[in-house]
Amino acid sequence: IPVEPFELVIFGGTGDLTRRKLLPALFHRYLDDQITDDSRIIGCARSEMSREAYAEMAREACIAATSDSDWTDDAWDSFAKLLDYQQLDISAPKKEWKPLRSKLSLDDRACIYYLATAPALYVQICASLKKAEMVTSASRVVLEKPIGRDFDSAAKINDGVCAVFDESQIFRIDHYLGKETVQNLMVLRFSNTLFEPVWSRHHIDHVQITVAENLGLEGRAGYYDKSGALRDMVQNHILQLLCLIAMEPPNSMDADEIRTEKIKVLRALVRFDEERARTHTVRGQYAEGLVNGTPVPGYLDDLGEPNSSTETFVAIKAEIDNWRWAGIPFYLRTGKRMKRRTSEIVIQFKNVAHSIFGSNGEDANKLVIKLQPDEAVRLFLHIKEPGPGGLRIKSLPLNLSYAENFTVRYPDAYERLLMDVVRGNLALFMRRDEVEAAWRWVDDLIAAWEGVDKKPDDYTAGSDGPVSSAMLLDRDGRSWWQGQSK
Ligand code: NAP
Repeated sequence: IPVEPFELVIFGGTGDLTRRKLLPALFHRYLDDQITDDSRIIGCARSEMSREAYAEMAREACIAATSDSDWTDDAWDSFAKLLDYQQLDISAPKKEWKPLRSKLSLDDRACIYYLATAPALYVQICASLKKAEMVTSASRVVLEKPIGRDFDSAAKINDGVCAVFDESQIFRIDHYLGKETVQNLMVLRFSNTLFEPVWSRHHIDHVQITVAENLGLEGRAGYYDKSGALRDMVQNHILQLLCLIAMEPPNSMDADEIRTEKIKVLRALVRFDEERARTHTVRGQYAEGLVNGTPVPGYLDDLGEPNSSTETFVAIKAEIDNWRWAGIPFYLRTGKRMKRRTSEIVIQFKNVAHSIFGSNGEDANKLVIKLQPDEAVRLFLHIKEPGPGGLRIKSLPLNLSYAENFTVRYPDAYERLLMDVVRGNLALFMRRDEVEAAWRWVDDLIAAWEGVDKKPDDYTAGSDGPVSSAMLLDRDGRSWWQGQSK
């Protein structure tokens, strides 16, 4: 179903995110007839560029992100007619915003300002939009991550943006929430009768959330060294996944119903002091090693700075102090230069109360939700191994692979999220209080780490992280899920 016609201004219209994600996402939605020919997309940046040169830049970006079978020159030529470009320095005075303003109709169609620039510019952009009288009740603003680097800086950005836009007009993107399997988490939990009765401390032993990358810094060294794994991945993506797993069933799919349930989880997370940071967390930094058989340098060599103590790996034993989850650990981990690229959630159920099969089949049921690289849901059950030689029990999965069940092309997360912005659907975007609650929890941990003042533990590139990460679970008599291909 096509969305209503809209006008979209991309600040940072020549940047990496726009070229790799936003323009291809819009083109794919156009190919699927979701965007009508009376919509407009205006790139905006300081570089001098004609409309034609911008369309050519966009064409190259979209070709790189489109399969040969989907590409047609005719479709591109029609899509290119929606594109326009406006040179503008965000710090320019009001009068220099006039050419951009004159490109917009500013009537009742959705007018979306996508802030794909450095976050340091967000407040200035919003203030200038207001001064230039470009904000109406039909305006929306999209903020990319990171929203700040701690609670105070996030609050400052939120104050600046909220001074111009109402909360209902603000779309804070966490692209993880646009992934098919992440959305499927809610369907899995709240559309199946099987899970809710066992979804609590009574039947679940613990939960693991892993987001592992085998890549290193990939040209983002300056940003990453100031951020580290906790701020880059845990504060947003991993805490969002944790919320979707742990939240109470919302009353409806209404955005605020969902976001209210998520924030209750964030507020119930046990906060850190130095003692808890010492016993419940691990910081790691990769040293040289082999990734997929290729030798790679360590973090400090990648960075060219011998004294950095930024963590490229973090493992956390998080706990949620509420009725449903009291005493149940949520083990979270993320890292760069790990053995393989994988994002998965493991719900480990408890053993049966009394095993009539002795020690046979001790590996209790688990539900594995794989987010990437392949998307799948696997429910591991016990079955009897066939054969006459005694009763041997094996744990095997009921395997729901997305690729095997759905042959359709998977839309990129940005395709879904951009169309939700146009529709005004806020369910998959973060509310101000969510972002700030996540920062409060992360800030406590960073302060505790600073108090402990310990260098990150080394781990070999291409491994599962530092030995201390395995020990974090080993102390509890548990271990990280090693994965099973089928
Ligand atoms: P980038 O490649 O450095 O692009 C920055 C863009 O902002 C360029 O188009 C630049 O164009 C424009 N710009 C900078 N200063 C400006 C000014 N004063 N006035 C007008 N335009 C200005 O950055 P990026 O990687 O695309 O990232 C953009 C945002 O998305 C950041 O907040 C980043 O954290 C977030 N993000 C990026 C990714 C990613 O994969 N790249 C992923 C997640 C989040 P000119 O130099 O021509 O002005």
